[in-house]
Amino acid sequence: MDWTEGDFIGGHPVLDFLNTAAGRTKQRDVERLVDFETFLKWSCVAGIVSESEVNALTDRLHRDPTGAGTALSDVCRFREALHGCLIAEQAGSEWPEDAKALVISNLRDCLAKAQLAKCAASYEWSVSACETDLALPLTRLVLETEALLRSDDLARMRCCDRCSWLFIDRGRGPSRRWCSMAACGSRAKSARYYQRKTGNGDER
Ligand SMILES: [Zn+2]
Repeated sequence: MDWTEGDFIGGHPVLDFLNTAAGRTKQRDVERLVDFETFLKWSCVAGIVSESEVNALTDRLHRDPTGAGTALSDVCRFREALHGCLIAEQAGSEWPEDAKALVISNLRDCLAKAQLAKCAASYEWSVSACETDLALPLTRLVLETEALLRSDDLARMRCCDRCSWLFIDRGRGPSRRWCSMAACGSRAKSARYYQRKTGNGDER
């Protein structure tokens, strides 16, 4: 599948990653990371891996399809656990226990593999660019998660009124309610219009 601008509305690569699941409802029942190659393409567009890393990893995945299948299930398991935690965080609730344990164990494993590298005036965790481990894109996303959890962006995180997508609300005015006006905002508005016309419906 081709990833387009509308797939990157989260305002943070980790939220864009969480938004690779689900259709336009609260149910996360549409899986868009259908295979590891699709995830690699997404990671490249998202700036998580470079094109040369994608080429090296694509060679690797063709040599090791079973490993790629396992790596993809790790990716989707981490994504859904983190989504559960951030939905709870955004609602002001405790993180669900199992999901929290999985997120923490991923954070610990990835930090153990990472090096502390200087980036402009500060430091950040990174993993080697010459790495051809199929876990490379996920490792980088986990390290990005670690940074997100410690950043001010977390307080500005919102969940779309209509679907399960998360985004950082950087606007100064009233809170942004939808992941995007084109995808969910206009549907919410047309549903309200329909309700006014017919006098019924079940607006959320
Ligand atoms: Zn939405």
